[in-house]
Amino acid sequence: MNLILLHDADFISAERVVLRDRRREHIRAVHRAEVGDQLRVGRLNGLCGNGTILRSSGDELELEVRLDTPPPAPLPLTLLLALPRPKMLKRILQTVSALGVKDIYLINSYRVDKSYWSSPLLQPEQFNEQLILGLEQARDTQLPRVELRPRFKPFVEDETPELIRGTTAYVAHPGVDRACPSGTQGATTLAIGPEGGFIPYEVELLQNNGFLPVSLGERILRVETAVPVLLTRLAPVLDQ
Ligand code: SAM
Repeated sequence: MNLILLHDADFISAERVVLRDRRREHIRAVHRAEVGDQLRVGRLNGLCGNGTILRSSGDELELEVRLDTPPPAPLPLTLLLALPRPKMLKRILQTVSALGVKDIYLINSYRVDKSYWSSPLLQPEQFNEQLILGLEQARDTQLPRVELRPRFKPFVEDETPELIRGTTAYVAHPGVDRACPSGTQGATTLAIGPEGGFIPYEVELLQNNGFLPVSLGERILRVETAVPVLLTRLAPVLDQ
């Protein structure tokens, strides 16, 4: 936890918060912070800043906070991800949240196991928990938006033309000739397939709706590896 992420319910006044949950435990056990120490804090969907510990007693930790810095810039990329198995989805949500993705569509595909759609992880309070872990890791405050699209064809035909407008859209698919570009300019949309891959019909439908198939080379990566590799590769090159 590189940032203590504060929720509206933590605030007892404009500049005071009281923490009672795993964040209090983490500050005591991992940071070993004491009264008077300063910690990096951020308000969910708001600014970042510092928090000074005023009181640490029983199951409460009180901080005075000063929030004056914007969170890091988001990654200008919309991710369409064929729904992975729940254990993998948990890790991927943390990773994409840490990497700055703000728009995530979990989509169906022929090779997505139907049972994955009834996972409790698809409840907002459960997936938000994973996204928040990613934000805390990367010192970000902006919660990503997750949309579920359990029907592939209507989603691609009816929604993606509008969704990809003003972006360059790619579908990652091993074995195609075009190499995935590095350091793209402007906004991007990226579709990533399920563990068994997109079937040819799905790649064709995406292609007919404006997506360029791209490959990372002959090594076929697991989805949870392909996701950060593709996001890093497509991310705009920043002037340091
Ligand atoms: N046998 C499947 C196939 O050939 O499509 C492998 C699927 S791979 C485990 C899962 C997803 O990760 C793919 O659908 C693709 O989106 C992405 N991926 C993995 N390795 C890739 C590569 N070398 N090039 C492009 N995409 C890749």
